[in-house]
Amino acid sequence: MKQWISLRVRVTLVCGVVLAICCLLLTLSHNYYAYEMADAIEAPPLQPAQAVENVETTESASAPMATITYPARAIYRTQSLIAMGVIVAAGCVLVYWLTGNALAPLRRLDQQIRVRTAADLDTPLPVPSSGDEIAGLTVSFNEMSGNLSKAFAQQKRFSQCAAHELKTPLSVLKTRMALFRKKGLCNTPEVAALLEVLEEQTDRLSQLVNDLLALTNLDSLEHSAVVKVDELLSRAVESLQIPAREHQITLHLRAEPCTVLGNSTLLERAVCNLIENAIKYNRPNGTVTVETTAAERCVKIHVTDEGIGIPVELQEQIFEPFFRVDRSRSRQLGGSGLGLSLVRAIAELHHGTISVEPAPGQGSRFVLTIPCDG
Ligand code: ADP
Repeated sequence: MKQWISLRVRVTLVCGVVLAICCLLLTLSHNYYAYEMADAIEAPPLQPAQAVENVETTESASAPMATITYPARAIYRTQSLIAMGVIVAAGCVLVYWLTGNALAPLRRLDQQIRVRTAADLDTPLPVPSSGDEIAGLTVSFNEMSGNLSKAFAQQKRFSQCAAHELKTPLSVLKTRMALFRKKGLCNTPEVAALLEVLEEQTDRLSQLVNDLLALTNLDSLEHSAVVKVDELLSRAVESLQIPAREHQITLHLRAEPCTVLGNSTLLERAVCNLIENAIKYNRPNGTVTVETTAAERCVKIHVTDEGIGIPVELQEQIFEPFFRVDRSRSRQLGGSGLGLSLVRAIAELHHGTISVEPAPGQGSRFVLTIPCDG
């Protein structure tokens, strides 16, 4: 049976077919016995031996009985079939209603599971007191989400600890290299080149560690302050003017005054990540346009570039950690591979979304949607 037919309708259909077969058999058997009874009534009564020669009188006596029973048979047949139809229809309605009632706890459970997010995995669902299969299913679901929550927490702790542990040696390396450079010890071109590579790679590692820490610490940050989106966007655009000029990219800002509830630093970081990517993956002398549109009870921030674009089939995957469309190109351009994952995590923290679509002409348009009421 097709997937789109609900369980309730399927149960009703099955019960309807069973009911129809049973009612039909019952009606047929009733009709059969009723006909037999009618035949018995119509049979000529036994005549005493002396009256047998008067056959004409006997036949004429049975004739009125047949004229009465034949229409009665037809009426009985029609009425029994109509009654059967009505009983089957009423039975189906009853089954549909009863199935709806019986499945109501399952629907409630489904709704409770649907609204769950990773953040409330460790809060168990209320177990119904019925003690039936649905209560069993709720207990199993609670156990499963509890285990998932523990696994997530473990993974998060691991990433946090790893990022912290990496931070200290990286800062030591950076300080030592800065000191080395300051003392003028790069006296040969080979040493200077080596130092440059070391500095570049240490910076990349630091960015990766910072992004990893930001990703794992998001939940603990306050995100219910009033944020002026237009001011936030002009700060973000201003802070990225220098890298934009270095890549010969022009930044345009068109923002209407609007506010959302959230964390200003995180939202600015998300927008900066989008603009940085729009600069990095743009064409030479291209433009990046940052604009806002107010939709129903939310603000949409569009970041549009004129760059290489993203293949449609990869538009979902680019938000996964460390996913890159062109690995070698992205490595060359720098970046931790966590930029868009962080944008998505920030959007989700604000109950918003992030999506990408092809820009008109050439390039990509990222749309960050944040609800106004958080
Ligand atoms: P990265 O540090 O590699 O830029 P991100 O998570 O920021 O990591 O982006 C993931 C990948 O998505 C990038 O490697 C790139 O292939 C692709 N991408 C992101 N932004 C754009 C864009 N504006 N235009 C084209 N490709 C993009």
